[in-house]
Amino acid sequence: MAQLLIVEDDARIRPLVVRALTERGHAVRSEATGMAGLNAAVELRPDLLVLDLGLPDVDGTQVLSMLRAVSDVPVIVATARDDDPTLVRCLEGGADDYVVKPYTVDQLAARITAVLRRVGRAGGAASREIVVGRLRIDVPARQARLDDEQLDLSPKEFDLLRHLAERAGDVVTKRELLTEVWQQAWGGSEKTVDVHLSWLRRKLGETAADPQYLHSVRGVGVRLSAPEGA
Ligand code: CA
Repeated sequence: MAQLLIVEDDARIRPLVVRALTERGHAVRSEATGMAGLNAAVELRPDLLVLDLGLPDVDGTQVLSMLRAVSDVPVIVATARDDDPTLVRCLEGGADDYVVKPYTVDQLAARITAVLRRVGRAGGAASREIVVGRLRIDVPARQARLDDEQLDLSPKEFDLLRHLAERAGDVVTKRELLTEVWQQAWGGSEKTVDVHLSWLRRKLGETAADPQYLHSVRGVGVRLSAPEGA
């Protein structure tokens, strides 16, 4: 089962697709405009998005590029335009696959399954522990331990730590953190991130000048990684 988001303005197609995918065991939400779809993608964080290209407010190709600025959610584009340049642009712009209308729900469902398998999101993401050096994060219990000491974290500090730990070793931008942790894809202040990072540092017993786990990369973002020898 996956959480799917369908962005489709056609009032005949939308309920059919929602029902057919729900019957196949997916949790499905649908939106009828590009902007509503973008907001839902950020808020809901679906496992996959099916994006119609012909939308009333914002063109689907633009929705895709706005989405890609803030999210790596897998996207299947659905288009009535059987024109190669548009499809090529979408695939180059970050779409994972496409269906050409009129498509059958069987075909769409098969493509959804294939994309989810490829990106490794086929369910079961919630129940796990993330370990980085001597830092252990129990995701379902929302608890973190360092050297077997439980950390006393606020909900936001926990979310921030978890997100960085999920991307351990990568430099994560503050914009991504605002989007993923604060759900502020197009607003918010990077200062918010800085303040929470400094609180988190204190709780991890380190400082920006002498980092152990949290490494600021100037002008880019922050990276969580295990200290040498941990
Ligand atoms: Ca349409």
